[in-house]
Amino acid sequence: MVASAAEGDNRTPVAGIVVTVERATCFVCGRATYDPPKSERPWARAVSGGRQVLVCPRSQVDRPDWASLVDRCSNCGSTRLSLTLGEVVCRACGTVGALEARPSEQ
Ligand SMILES: [Zn+2]
Ligand SMILES: [Zn+2]
Repeated sequence: MVASAAEGDNRTPVAGIVVTVERATCFVCGRATYDPPKSERPWARAVSGGRQVLVCPRSQVDRPDWASLVDRCSNCGSTRLSLTLGEVVCRACGTVGALEARPSEQ
């Protein structure tokens, strides 16, 4: 017997990752983005060199030092940075322009 698989494919796409990035690939290993199963942690969003980047769940595990590859908030040190309208916003403490080196006031 051959079961017909022509019908019954009514899977609904999972709205997992909705981000605007230049490259929708992992910043660490370069794999294309995908919706991780619920057993895995979600992709991490970060900023490196002023660009929004993503880190896949596996790289977060395989490369615990991935956080050292990306930029950190100048205020709280978090890597949970998001690029919004050209400004880096810290999603941990809310600092806007977290990476901007403050010009020394004279
Ligand atoms: Zn990766
Ligand atoms: Zn912060």
